[in-house]
Amino acid sequence: MPPKGRIVVNENYCKGCEVCVFNCPQHVLALDHDHITVKGYHPAVLIAEGCTGCGICAVVCPDAAITVYRIKTGVTRDQD
Ligand code: SF4
Ligand code: SF4
Repeated sequence: MPPKGRIVVNENYCKGCEVCVFNCPQHVLALDHDHITVKGYHPAVLIAEGCTGCGICAVVCPDAAITVYRIKTGVTRDQD
């Protein structure tokens, strides 16, 4: 099973430049045209499942607006 992830975009930093959108290898990012930040930008948002948590969006974002979280898969628990 491929690794899964999710991202959080800090709207105080995002300026809607789309660098993350163009660099996401899974094509799961877009600008949210239904929402405007307090600074007047359409922020980046996840638009589909399939984020792998690769972290590329966070690396390329010029404003460090993205935090990436990896979701552990295949974790098993011991039974009592
Ligand atoms: S690269 Fe950063 S600033 Fe640009 S749209 Fe994506 S999150 Fe916003
Ligand atoms: S962590 Fe990777 S797959 Fe997920 S949104 Fe960012 S660039 Fe795309």
